[in-house]
Amino acid sequence: MEHPETATPAHKAAASREASPDSLRLSCSRCAAELRRSAYEFRLSGTAAFHCLRCALMHWPTVQRSLLISLIVGTLLTAINQGALIVQGDLSANLAWQVPLTYLVPYCVATIGAVLNARRSNVELDHA
Ligand SMILES: [Zn+2]
Repeated sequence: MEHPETATPAHKAAASREASPDSLRLSCSRCAAELRRSAYEFRLSGTAAFHCLRCALMHWPTVQRSLLISLIVGTLLTAINQGALIVQGDLSANLAWQVPLTYLVPYCVATIGAVLNARRSNVELDHA
């Protein structure tokens, strides 16, 4: 057993982890769910906040950015794919599902990209 005053900072850190493993557990800053395997880090005013996957998918700045991307890309893709039909006034029933799907795809791509970019594994969290 080492004397407490001669222990290196690394030894002290290891001891505190063993002494209170609960203190190292992260919880979602929005719903307080325990973050076991991974967390999603979002920064607001320079402060990191960790969320669970469900809260990360509902993170309002991410939702806003994905909606903007969906509006821009969805409009371009709709114009490319169905623009001629819409201009001619040939509105078939298929457009009722094709156009919303054309907006949904870029929303999903933008959201998945943002959430995967914010993902932190337990290994990364332990060394943060
Ligand atoms: Zn949550």
